[in-house]
Formats: sequence, structure tokens, C-alpha cells
Amino acid sequence: MAQSDFYDLVIIGGGPGGLCAAIYAMRAAMKTVLVEKGVTGGQVTMSDEVENYLGFTHVSGAELSMRFTQHAQSYDLEMISQEVTALDPGLDYHTVKLADAAVLKSHAVILATGGSPKKLNVPGEREFYGKGVSYCATCDGFFFRGKTVVVVGGGDSAAEEALYLAKLCKKVYIAHRRDQLRASKILQQRIFNDCNIEMLWNTVVTEIKAGSDGVDRVGLKDTVTAKRRQLEVNGVFIFIGFNPNNELVPAGTRMNADGMVMTDHKCETNTPGIYVIGDLREKFARQIVLSAADGCTAALAAAYYVDAKKSMQGETCALPMDTAE
Ligand code: NAP
Repeated sequence: MAQSDFYDLVIIGGGPGGLCAAIYAMRAAMKTVLVEKGVTGGQVTMSDEVENYLGFTHVSGAELSMRFTQHAQSYDLEMISQEVTALDPGLDYHTVKLADAAVLKSHAVILATGGSPKKLNVPGEREFYGKGVSYCATCDGFFFRGKTVVVVGGGDSAAEEALYLAKLCKKVYIAHRRDQLRASKILQQRIFNDCNIEMLWNTVVTEIKAGSDGVDRVGLKDTVTAKRRQLEVNGVFIFIGFNPNNELVPAGTRMNADGMVMTDHKCETNTPGIYVIGDLREKFARQIVLSAADGCTAALAAAYYVDAKKSMQGETCALPMDTAE
């Protein structure tokens, strides 16, 4: 094994958590590499506007992501653009395998792979993805200017994306399966005050239909009366939560029933030296600021872990300066 393939820390995932972990790891003088298969920034890249990240009253998700990435890169962080195919824990070191067959060995690993949009699993959803079915209003909203769309879901994502679409579309319906939104009160207020948005309470989408120009209607079902009807729409935007991207979580790692990894207060899993942060970690709320905070915690904890490991192996390593702040 070439010494250059051995790291103090491998960070898997380049969202706010992974990038923040990288900043703290570089400041702790750890030999660090961050592996990301797509673009850095994570889910926030797809947010139209972010208004609750400390220090920014109003910023686009794309700009915030760019700033996170630039900040991490200012420390000359090594980044690899590859898919990770496996994370194999070991007693002496952990092994991270990449799609191009490269193998990285590391004392510590931070897993920051986040989550992916949940699917409705109704007829037409998969078939008409990209032809009227979307999971990102910021990406696809432009194509629905002056048209009618339905947003599915009642959480913060559905609310934010509906408000974004209401600026572009002729009409936005929100189909929510209950009679109360889960979204934060401030977003609820904005929705109720937006005359371009109509709530479809106690309503689920049962099927998505399309003609030659793409989606043209959805089947709806009232969850209280079981009454069914059709609604003419040109687009269906689905925001019903997300599934954790836990494919790389090693067997034997403690997870909850939703597939989120359970860690201790240092974000460390039950495998020493393997940390899980951000949306993949079980927590009360999933917010950008919390992912960043997890990244800080895990990197500082990993620095101590790596130092102890190296001491045992007769090497030396700098301890993080940032714990003294
Ligand atoms: P979420 O909070 O889990 O909300 C999912 C919504 O979809 C819920 O209203 C849920 O209904 C509904 N739903 C779930 N499965 C469904 C199904 N099969 N059919 C129909 N409806 C279904 O997900 P999210 O909105 O994506 O937010 C995820 C996390 O990110 C949350 O913690 C949220 O606060 C956070 N977030 C924050 C911001 C922000 O602060 N700016 C923005 C976006 C997201 P029920 O209510 O009946 O369960």
C-alpha cells in the first residue's frame, strides 16, 4: 500500500456536514480527503432560498453551497470526484473503496451521505419523471411558467417549493394527506396568504397521467371520504421527505427503524473511528446548520481519535486547535 493512499480521515459526502468537517479536519492538520460523487453542496444546492442559516438573512441554496465549497477549498483540501462503493471497517484502519477501483485506507471515516427524495410509488411517477414529475422546483420550475402544478406534501420542503412555484405558475395546488401542515408556522402563513396557492386538504395523489406533451392530470383521493376525482395539472412536484442514503453504513452499525444511524454525542457510531453526520444521523431536526455542527463535532472527535491511534502506533499527530475556542 502506498503511503499516499493512507489518510488520517476520509470524509464521504460533500454537503454542508462533510465540508464543515473538512474545514475542522484541515485546521487540525489531519491528512484528509473528501470524496463526493456529484457536485458539492448537497441538498441545499437545490433550495431556491435559504433564510435560516446564521449570518444570511437571505441567500440562494446555490450560493450558500458555493461558499461552503470555497471555504473548504481555501485549506487546500484534497477532493476526489468518485462514487464510494464500500466502507469496510477494520481494527487497524478502515478501508474505503471507490468505483474506479481505487482504495483509500484511513484511521477515521466520516460518513456524510445525506438522503434522497422519497417516492410516492404511484402509477405514472417513475414513467413520467422528467416529463412533468419532479423532485426539485428550483431545477424544473422554469418549465412550468404560466402552467398549473400540484405540490405533494405538507412539510417545510413542500411549503418552500410551493411558494417558489407560485411566483412562476398560473396556479399551485398543495395536496396534503392531513388537515394540518407540518411546515413551520412562518411558511404556513405565507402559503395561506398566497392567492396563487390552493390547499387540497386530506388528499393523496393516487396516479399520474400524461398525454403527448407530458403530464396532464392526476388522480386524487380524499383520505376522509375515500372519494376519488381527477385534477388537470401540467406538473407534479413531490416533497414527502427523504430516505437516508445508508447503503455504505457497515453491517452491525446501530440504526433506528427509519434507517438513520444512531451515534453518541461525538457523532461516533458503535464502530470506533467511524462517524456519521448530517441527515443520515438520527436527530430531532434536519437543518443545514445542524449538519454543519455535526461536521464540526465529528472532525474534532476524529482528531482526538486519530491522535490516540497514532500514539499507540508510535506516530505523532497535532491535536485540534479549535477545541480551545
Ligand atoms: P418532512 O418534514 O418529513 O415532511 C414530509 C411531508 O410529506 C409531511 O407533511 C408528510 O405528511 C408528507 N408525506 C410523507 N409521506 C407521504 C406519502 N407517502 N404520501 C403523502 N404525503 C406524505 O420532509 P421535508 O419537508 O422534506 O423536510 C425534511 C427535513 O428538512 C425537515 O426536518 C424539515 O424541517 C427540513 N427542512 C427545513 C427547511 C428550512 O428550514 N428552510 C427546508 C426544507 C426542509 P404528514 O405530515 O402527514 O406526516
